[in-house]
Amino acid sequence: MSKTTPQKFEFQAEIKQLLDIVIHSLYTEKEIFVRELVSNASDALEKLRHTQITEQDIHDDKLELEITVSTDEKAKTITIQDHGIGMTRDELVENLGTIAHSGSKAFLNAIKEGGAKNDNLIGQFGVGFYSAFMVGDSVKVYSRSWKKDEVGHVWSSDGSGSYEIEESADLQRGTKIVITLKEDCAEYAKDSTIKDILERYSAFVSFPIKLGDDHVNTVTALWLRSKNEIKEEEYTEFYKFQSHAHDDPRLRLHFSADAPLAINALLFVPQSNSEKMGFSRLEPSVSLYCRKVMIDAKPKDLLPEWLRFVKGVVDSEDLPLNISRETMQDKALIDKLNKVITKRFLKFLENEAKNRVEGYNEFYKEFGIFLKEGAAMDFNHKDQLIKLLRFESSLTEKGKTTSLADYVSRMGEEQKEIYYLVGPNRASIESGPYLEAFKARNLEVLFCYEAVDEYVMTNVREFDSKNLKAANSSDVELSDLDQPEGKLSKNEIEKLTKWLKETLGDRVQEVKSSTRLVDSPALALNADQFMTPQMRQMMKSMNKDGEDTPLKINLEINPRSALMKRVYDLSGADPEKAGLVAGQILDNALISAGLLEDATPMVQRMYKLLEQV
Ligand code: ADP
Ligand code: MG
Repeated sequence: MSKTTPQKFEFQAEIKQLLDIVIHSLYTEKEIFVRELVSNASDALEKLRHTQITEQDIHDDKLELEITVSTDEKAKTITIQDHGIGMTRDELVENLGTIAHSGSKAFLNAIKEGGAKNDNLIGQFGVGFYSAFMVGDSVKVYSRSWKKDEVGHVWSSDGSGSYEIEESADLQRGTKIVITLKEDCAEYAKDSTIKDILERYSAFVSFPIKLGDDHVNTVTALWLRSKNEIKEEEYTEFYKFQSHAHDDPRLRLHFSADAPLAINALLFVPQSNSEKMGFSRLEPSVSLYCRKVMIDAKPKDLLPEWLRFVKGVVDSEDLPLNISRETMQDKALIDKLNKVITKRFLKFLENEAKNRVEGYNEFYKEFGIFLKEGAAMDFNHKDQLIKLLRFESSLTEKGKTTSLADYVSRMGEEQKEIYYLVGPNRASIESGPYLEAFKARNLEVLFCYEAVDEYVMTNVREFDSKNLKAANSSDVELSDLDQPEGKLSKNEIEKLTKWLKETLGDRVQEVKSSTRLVDSPALALNADQFMTPQMRQMMKSMNKDGEDTPLKINLEINPRSALMKRVYDLSGADPEKAGLVAGQILDNALISAGLLEDATPMVQRMYKLLEQV
């Protein structure tokens, strides 16, 4: 048979199966065919560039290495053309008629694993060249190889069992794919639709992509260039483009690694934390690329949850373009990427914290909450994350912070635990009743201002084998202070605490003399250490109409307080008045502890007391 007459071929059985799935799939994001065909064009151009290095005799050697996309709304066609390496007749048969190549094979394997036709798999894999049949009634591939003595051919098929190949005169080097679109896919014959798709998936393809007069991909894949060639403005411009951002990035990490995986990554931290400003939870937004072609804009498992504030790009040539999140092997790859990138990012933050203290602290103010989340929940990275946490403390100035390591370096010989207090702000912790005992003994206390801190500190539990301990928990043991003269004796204290318990009744579980008080007359402790004031408030807001669990209060009194001495004296002379005062002392202590829930009885009592003035 002469080569000029069309010759008919049957697709290989596996391709038939694949086409059947592709054509009948209900997969909605058909637009990925653009990504697949453009990435094939880019591969073909890349191969040509390689060939040019070693070969002299290349057909049409002067042609631009670019990709041209054009649409025709009337004819309902889309055309994607490249001047790449092209295909000979045999290559057309081999490449487009058999399942020798990687992508589609992986797809079919997954179908076999997963059983039924799975529409989703198409999006996750891409089905390479055959995705053209998702949108096309007929597909024509005009191709001419780079080899001088080869002529051009046109391959055509409607996606049913067979295809035809015919010689085609006057073709330029490379490949031109013309898709005649199905009735319901006419939208892909519009430049505006295609432009949008190209910008999303193919923005960083190395070769210029032309759509009409537009050069679609003007931003280069910055992450693949070497650091010292890149200007600050280029980074900023890239960040704004890639992350759809309007601010300048606060931090930037650009790195590459060869082992265990080839990775090029360019990561950014924005100026501000939108979650903190009350916007919705951030979605992972470091995009995954394979050799400049986007695989997934928001891959879920590429980074740990707590790194969801990071923007940018991770590119690994070790990933198959048609990666799936489903198969075990690919999941292992993503896990490996995750490990490497997280480690690098933590190392980066550690360096920032060490070398650019001011900048790190600014970053921490905005994004520290994510590090806390990680420290509390991500067991794998907990140890590194704890080191990155910062707190104000009783020894820092307002607004200045300390790390746990620095705290530990200031601990005295006898101190075994790391103390912290949770409160809405510095002033309220400093004026509260708990701090004075620690101050009097030169013990540093970390100040925690955020609602999650309680949870974080309980989960983190220890640092440098020292327990983290809430300074207001009832089992803190403090050394004795010198007893001043002239205050309540041991015997008097015993009588007073007994009398107070009787007088206050059910309102307190226990009354005892305290070592932790210096100036305040008394202090209320929550005997239920898990039911902190913060926790209680949370429970209340969740269970508005339910019964309150009764508070369990331990009242500690200060034996050195003049007021306590007065109550003691009064308890003998005027028990009724002493009772009012005792009640008021308890309420004051509850207020300080954030535990007073109903102020009405207090107001009544206060009036009674005032009447006696
Ligand atoms: P993959 O890209 O994973 O190999 P595809 O189904 O996308 O799978 O493509 C199949 C094969 O067809 C490619 O490997 C390549 O050899 C050939 N091919 C596809 N498009 C072109 C093109 N524009 N130029 C040259 N060869 C191409
Ligand atoms: Mg491909």
